[in-house]
Amino acid sequence: MSVDIDCVVVGAGVVGLAVAREMALAGHEVLVIEAGAAIGIGTSSRNSEVIHAGIYYPPGSLKARLSVEGRHALYAYCDSHGVRTRRTGKLIVANTEAQVAQLQLLLKRGHENGVDDLRLLDRNQATALEPALECIAALHSPSTGIVDSHGLMLALQGNAEAAGTSIALHAPLLRARVTADGFLLNVGGESPMELSCRRLINAAGLHAPAVARCIDGLSSDAVPRDYLCKGSYFSVSGRVPFTHLIYPAPEADGLGVHMTIDLGGQARFGPDTEWVETEDYQVNPARADGFYSAIRSYWPDLPDGSLQPDYSGIRPKISAPGAPARDFMISSQREHGVPGLINLFGIESPGLTSCLAIAKHARELIER
Ligand SMILES: Cc1cc2nc3c(=O)[nH]c(=O)nc-3n(C[C@H](O)[C@H](O)[C@H](O)COP(=O)(O)OP(=O)(O)OC[C@H]3O[C@@H](n4cnc5c(N)ncnc54)[C@H](O)[C@@H]3O)c2cc1C
Repeated sequence: MSVDIDCVVVGAGVVGLAVAREMALAGHEVLVIEAGAAIGIGTSSRNSEVIHAGIYYPPGSLKARLSVEGRHALYAYCDSHGVRTRRTGKLIVANTEAQVAQLQLLLKRGHENGVDDLRLLDRNQATALEPALECIAALHSPSTGIVDSHGLMLALQGNAEAAGTSIALHAPLLRARVTADGFLLNVGGESPMELSCRRLINAAGLHAPAVARCIDGLSSDAVPRDYLCKGSYFSVSGRVPFTHLIYPAPEADGLGVHMTIDLGGQARFGPDTEWVETEDYQVNPARADGFYSAIRSYWPDLPDGSLQPDYSGIRPKISAPGAPARDFMISSQREHGVPGLINLFGIESPGLTSCLAIAKHARELIER
C-alpha cells in the first residue's frame, strides 16, 4: 500500500502524542506510526510522573526553558481536560554543609530559570512541614507536583484524533529516504506500507538515534551516539510519613534516589542509576541495599525489609557515562540541512513535564 501524507510522527509516547496534537490543531494532516501494540508503552510509562518546577537545568538551556514553560502549560492543560494532577510540593534535602551549598546554588539557578516560588528552609522549618525528615536544610518547591501520565496520554491522543490524526500501532519505521519534496518511508509490522510525507518528526524516544540512522540522506554526523542509563524503583509496603516529594541533593547522573507518591497514594523510591548495554527492565532485588542507605540519609526510620522491587525505566542519554549531562537535542534543518525533518534526541527528564512545550517548539521549527 502507498499513502501520501503531510506529517508523520514516529513514536506514540507522551512527546509524539503531544507533537501530533500540536501539529493537528495547527491544521496539518498527521499520521503517528508506533512500533508497539499500544500508545505510551515506552519511557512514558516508566518514570516518576513528576511535574518538575524547572530548578536543576542550566539557565538558557532547552531543558530550563521548556520545563518551566511546559509545567505551566501542563497544569493548565490537565485542569481543562480532566487529567489528574496534585501540587504535592517537593523538598530537596541537605545533610552536609556541602549539600547546603548545593541547595543555595539550586535556589539561584531556579530563580534564573524563572522558578520564583522556591524557599530555602532551615531544619526547624523543614521538619515543621515533614516531621519524619532528617536534614539540616531543605529547598522547598511548592509548584512541583505529580500527574497521571496515562490519563495525560489518553487526553493528548483524544485531542489529536479529534483534530484528524490517525495512529497506526504495530507500525515500526524500518527505513526512510529523503526525496525532492519530503520523505519516502518503509513501515513494517502487521500491515507493511510505503508512505510519502512532507514532514517527518522523529519522537522515537530511546530509539530516536536508531531511527535517524535509518534515514538515507541524513548525515551520520547529525546523529548523536546514544547511551542507556537504567533507573530502578522500589516500592515500600505501608504508608510513608511524608506528603511532599522528597529528593536528596542531586547526583552526577540523575536526581538521586527520591521518594515520590503516585495519585493512588503509593510511595516509591528511585530511580537509581545503572549504565546498561541492552533494554532490560527487570529490577534486580540486590539493588535494594543501595536504596536502604540512600533513603536512610533523609528517612532514618525506614523499616528493614520494607522495600520491594517495583519497575524500571531507561534514560535516553546522549552523554557518555561520567560526561556532563547534555541538553535536549532538538534538531531541524538549520542543524542537519534536511527540510521538513525534526529529530528529538535525548528527551530524558524533564521530558514528561515539557511535552507540550517541546511540541510547540517542534511545530515552530518545522513551520519556519
Ligand atoms: C527513570 C525515569 C524517570 C523519569 N521521571 C520523569 C519525571 O518524573 N518527570 C519528567 O518530566 N520526566 C521524567 N522522565 C522523562 C520522561 O519519562 C521522558 O522524557 C518521556 O517519557 C519521553 O517521551 P517520548 O515520547 O520521547 O519517549 P517514549 O515514551 O519512549 O516513546 C517513544 C515511542 O517510540 C516508539 N518507537 C521507537 N522506535 C520506533 C520505530 N522505529 N517506529 C515507530 N515507533 C517507534 C516506541 O515504541 C515508543 O512508544 C523520566 C525518565 C526516566 C527514564
